[in-house]
Amino acid sequence: MNRQKKFILQESEIPTQWYNIMAEMPNKPLPPIHPATRQPLTWQDLAHIFPEECAKQELNQTDAWIPIPEEVLDKYRYYRSTPLVRAYALEEALGTPAHIYFKNESTNPLGSHKVNSALPQCYYAKQEGTTNVTTETGAGQWGAALSYAASVYGLDAAVYQVKISMQQKPYRSSIMRTFGATIEGSPSMSTRAGKDIITRDPMHSGSLGTAISEAIELATTTPNCKYTLGSVLNHVALHQTIIGLEAEKQMALAGEYPDVVIACFGGGSNFGGLAFPFMRHNIKDGRKTEFIAAEPESCPKLTRGRFEYDFGDEAGYTPLLPMFTLGHDFKPANIHAGGLRYHGAGVIVSQLLKDGLMHGVDIPQLETFEAGILFARTEGIIPAPESSHAIAAAIREAKKCKETGQERVILFNLSGHGLIDMTAYDQFINGDLHNYQVTDEDIARNHIGV
Ligand SMILES: *Cc1c(COP(=O)(O)O)cnc(C)c1O
Repeated sequence: MNRQKKFILQESEIPTQWYNIMAEMPNKPLPPIHPATRQPLTWQDLAHIFPEECAKQELNQTDAWIPIPEEVLDKYRYYRSTPLVRAYALEEALGTPAHIYFKNESTNPLGSHKVNSALPQCYYAKQEGTTNVTTETGAGQWGAALSYAASVYGLDAAVYQVKISMQQKPYRSSIMRTFGATIEGSPSMSTRAGKDIITRDPMHSGSLGTAISEAIELATTTPNCKYTLGSVLNHVALHQTIIGLEAEKQMALAGEYPDVVIACFGGGSNFGGLAFPFMRHNIKDGRKTEFIAAEPESCPKLTRGRFEYDFGDEAGYTPLLPMFTLGHDFKPANIHAGGLRYHGAGVIVSQLLKDGLMHGVDIPQLETFEAGILFARTEGIIPAPESSHAIAAAIREAKKCKETGQERVILFNLSGHGLIDMTAYDQFINGDLHNYQVTDEDIARNHIGV
């Protein structure tokens, strides 16, 4: 029996193109539309705030393969390929006949998959003569990745971090400052939007909605400044396909092919990144792999949301996107998987879900921490609370295999490590964490669309 545990690619085997699933989807996603004119947006519209190349990638439904710029590949080589790992100890602890593999995206210095998209976004901005980038961040993983990528390409980064998260997770701000970024707690006095919010409510603790409006305002009022986003959008999922393209080669090294592919789900970028290259074989070659997106029970847009045009942000500043949504003013409970507290699903994934090419599962917070702790004690890695949703879903599948005696091959994404989330683990171990169920009334209360 082959007991090889880790599968790693040579630098020369790292994929040199991203996979754009839009070109091969049976039904193409509907276009984003302008809320006032109701007209589909063009890439020129999007290029007012995003780097031009990202704006073009966002709407590209024709090219299945997009070359990764050499300058980005060069930076990917600092931490890629990431290991594909067979979780033998977890399998043994579960007593399952399933083969469990995980792709470990926690091994880069920033600790999550987000840097895979931060690097190209900053590279394209730099290429186009931009000197400054800005963004919002909640828990701080995206802000940290962007700060690093900006420093790599010599850009100034200004990050609006949700004020309450800044107080709860001070080390993420320290990471961003170490890479030279400027951090503002949002709402701040540095923008008009922020001043208006503070004038209305001096004690406002901030939200992604306030932070997005401040970052967009900065991008539109500062010369040579572009706005960047760490999830939800099509070009972000495109950049993340490096995960699945590597995993495909690594699974071949292991001599297996996944029957089930699982990732946690916030806006869909790490899910799409791992899943799309494998889903391609379902679409083109009649493979029957099952794709599962694991979301929190407290923010169940895939399992209980509606497919409608809705705003991407709480305040309603973004274009309208066709997506599964709980309503742009849905207020998720304060769970520790901060990266999964988002009301909507990305446009591509929403269409795939509608077409039955994938499905969602919703998982209670306590089950995710139990899964995270079992994973830590067996595989020796403390997972991010977000990633623990994927682990919990993989454990559910492995337990089903134990009941049926099926030897299925399960592949999940470990999107990040949890070493800056240890207060959450302390709270769980002390018995201070809870589940949060959402009632139908909670969902009905929110607004979808204009
Ligand atoms: C941001 C984040 C997520 C959720 O974002 P997706 O776009 O859905 O991938 C998941 N895991 C980690 C570690 C994150 O930082």
